[in-house]
Amino acid sequence: MSEAKKMSLTVKVLLGMALGIILGLIINLTGMNAPGTFINEYIVNGLFHVVGKMFVNALKMLVVPLVFFSLICGVCGIGDIRMLGRVGGKSFALYMMTTAIAIATAIIIAVSFGIGKGMNVETNAAFSGKESPPLTQVLIDIIPTNPVKAMAQGDMLPLIFFSILLGISMLLVGRKAKSFVAGAEIANEIMMKMVTIVMAVAPYAVFALIAKSIATLGLDLLYSLAGYVLVLVGALMFHLFITLMIVLKVFSGLSPAMFLKKIRNVQVFAFSTASSNATIPVTMRTVTERFGVNNSVASFTVPFGATINMDGTAIMQGVATVFIANVYNVELGISGYLTVIMMSVLASIGTAGVPGVGLIMLSMVFAQVGLPIEGIGLILGVDRLMDMIRTAVNVSGDATVSSIVAKSEGKLDINVYNDPEAGTMDTDEIGEFDSEVEAEMAEAIQAARDQK
Ligand code: ASP
Repeated sequence: MSEAKKMSLTVKVLLGMALGIILGLIINLTGMNAPGTFINEYIVNGLFHVVGKMFVNALKMLVVPLVFFSLICGVCGIGDIRMLGRVGGKSFALYMMTTAIAIATAIIIAVSFGIGKGMNVETNAAFSGKESPPLTQVLIDIIPTNPVKAMAQGDMLPLIFFSILLGISMLLVGRKAKSFVAGAEIANEIMMKMVTIVMAVAPYAVFALIAKSIATLGLDLLYSLAGYVLVLVGALMFHLFITLMIVLKVFSGLSPAMFLKKIRNVQVFAFSTASSNATIPVTMRTVTERFGVNNSVASFTVPFGATINMDGTAIMQGVATVFIANVYNVELGISGYLTVIMMSVLASIGTAGVPGVGLIMLSMVFAQVGLPIEGIGLILGVDRLMDMIRTAVNVSGDATVSSIVAKSEGKLDINVYNDPEAGTMDTDEIGEFDSEVEAEMAEAIQAARDQK
């Protein structure tokens, strides 16, 4: 086997990211990203755009069937149905707790650096806030009026609700439903195979996605907002490397070093797609096969976390609130900041993990504490890059809580967790077509057709 063939897919994805950053920077710094140039029109907004978007579509395509089948299997395979309530309760509490800690630390860090004070920033990027749904509506919408509609729209909470209820109903129907459960297990395996197929092109797609993002980044904006950007990235890193790792160690005793090593791949996908939702297939695969979390926990905690858990987004909201309050000379005081914390935690429940949703949540927070919504226009220009980074933190939080909950329920295989090689992605996993199997399948189809 040649050296190149031995390189794991994970390494190739990381390489794709590094090369994407380098090429993106070259295009950006040499001005080749100017509108009208060949590189900008045909490479950045042509080739890279198309390849990147096709890949993100492919990831999104996997999410609904994967969550649906794996949740049915998760519920039917849990062994003790009471565990379901405990997994739900613990993960909800941990998701809310980590989000609250995230935004509180962000506010403390931003206030102590006094970012935005005495700053005179001009903005011509207008921002008008959109409404985020009120909590009452979020609660009502957990129950789908039509499960097919929820699936078609990719609405995660109603999909989770329906799939769990379906699994519970199968258990209650009992032995008669066994073949249905077995069918769901096979469907789940088929979907995981599809994840592997899509992953095979990931290194190239990640390269394209990142090269495009970096090439089109407004670097001068980054300089003029350096204070905001540095404090925000610092707070995000603090949360990822310190807070989450302390939470992981204290609540589960698992090794933070192993966690950080294995989560890298998921972070790259989150970074390049800026969407926790689109990253669900990768998070799910990594958490189950690399961390050893049993599917009965992961099938619930991962999609649930992608929707309700947004530590990175909460951090952005904390830092942005302090920044804009300072720029506009508004004194928020302790009670103002407490409202910000509460609003961000609540807002994260009802909003899906998709690109840019953090800004919508921020406008809701601003409306509540009386900060000018148009102030968000100040940070708009750097938000795409910040979105990429905070999404990587969001998915890390999902994986942290999944591991803690699984460990506490005896649903984590510690040997898999501690094995650095366990579940590494490999294109070989796709397997090969077997002519014997193909002939058998064709026979089976024919037999079924011939049956009267
Ligand atoms: N893009 C983020 C996510 O998908 C949400 C946000 O902060 O805008 O988790």
